[in-house]
Amino acid sequence: MDHEVEAEARERSWRRDEAVRAAVEQGLLGPDAAVVGLLDARGIRESAAALRTAFEAVLAPGTPVLHAFAVKASPLVPVLRLLHEEGIGAEVASPGELALARAAGVPAAHTVLDSPAKTPAELREALALGIAVNADNPQELERLDALVRSAPTRSPLGIRVNPQIGGGSIGATSTATETSKFGVALRDEGAREWVVGAYAERPWLTRLHAHTGSQGIPLELLARGVAETYALAEEINARVGRQQIDTLDIGGGLPVNFAGEATAPTYARYARLLAEQVPGLCAGRYGLVTEFGRSLLAKHGTVVARVEYAKRSGGRRIAVTHAGVQVATRTVYAPGAWPLRIAAYDAKGRPKPGPEVVQDVAGPACFAGDLLAEGRALPPLEQGDYAAALDTGAYYFAHHYAYNSLARPGIYGFAPDGAGGVAFATVREPQTIAEVVAESGGAHASALTTLRAPGSR
Ligand SMILES: *Cc1c(COP(=O)(O)O)cnc(C)c1O
Repeated sequence: MDHEVEAEARERSWRRDEAVRAAVEQGLLGPDAAVVGLLDARGIRESAAALRTAFEAVLAPGTPVLHAFAVKASPLVPVLRLLHEEGIGAEVASPGELALARAAGVPAAHTVLDSPAKTPAELREALALGIAVNADNPQELERLDALVRSAPTRSPLGIRVNPQIGGGSIGATSTATETSKFGVALRDEGAREWVVGAYAERPWLTRLHAHTGSQGIPLELLARGVAETYALAEEINARVGRQQIDTLDIGGGLPVNFAGEATAPTYARYARLLAEQVPGLCAGRYGLVTEFGRSLLAKHGTVVARVEYAKRSGGRRIAVTHAGVQVATRTVYAPGAWPLRIAAYDAKGRPKPGPEVVQDVAGPACFAGDLLAEGRALPPLEQGDYAAALDTGAYYFAHHYAYNSLARPGIYGFAPDGAGGVAFATVREPQTIAEVVAESGGAHASALTTLRAPGSR
């Protein structure tokens, strides 16, 4: 098993090296395209297959399963289409994400809506389309009451709960803390009773949802969140005397190994842990929905940036590149929580040999903290070389942050071309400077100079 994981990791890093070299050779990367995002299409398919087989292996035969990709992790239509082709649906949390899923052809029956701030119009649209909705709180459930009364819907409906099992090592991605903004806080006084009563009064509530964490949450804690959710469903079904809750949505949150190439933990390990700790979940009495994001995409994306200048400051070597806060926002603002591996390539896109020297890998933005890596031992990066930030396929280059009006880089998918080379496909065009101006109020240049209070001069 570990052998397989290792072999897969070796091949993934080999494919990435080939892609960087081919991107330089084919001109996708160069002086005029100084930063790009690359997506490994084969790797994404492998992760999707690993997810499917991991749960198939532990669930009773015939259990209905929907793996819904958390669109926020990689909001790119071609990615959603690829995952759809691999049998993966979409978990959406805004009108934009829903529109992306629909543009990718993800059917309503494979879509789940989960945002904490759904408007009446969004809820109405979701129910009209037949998309599954998890109500976040009592006020949202009242809105669903009104909609369900006013028109029939095919949407499976549920409530999101927060088992309040505690957070992990990263506060911003810990969703099951005592005071988390998500879901109904189960351990608050009267809350559990309220949830049970809400189901008893509404025979159309057939799902129960919890997403108890993300990067930084240990696997055991994730499993505990699922166990608590399962126990609540059992309690509700016992109270109403029938299998009213027929599907459990266990969220996503599998952490990603940013420290090395290997996939760890694997879906297989998580699924086995769930089967051990929550056997009733796998017994065939409940359908299953999952919502993994980061773990499906992170390992399959790479930001590659040209080294514009190599300099020294206070005795420190600094490679000034074109990838910084605009494509690696979390890492730049919270480097302790989100360290990224950096790979060094030469001007032809070939892996650079050692010996390693300590250096900073800086971004293009105009503030001192704009560093991809600080004091990192790497083969010396010279002017014209390339620095790659690895494992950036989720929540990185697809999440542009427009600091300094830096343009969104192009994103290209790659795959072996069958003849020993690499084929590329455009996933997202690079943003043009004209588009930057247009998105920055270019059509409203005199909006403020011509704005006057009535009667003033
Ligand atoms: C963000 C999110 C996910 C996905 O989390 P990952 O850590 O990317 O797997 C799943 N469900 C909900 C409700 C989320 O908010």
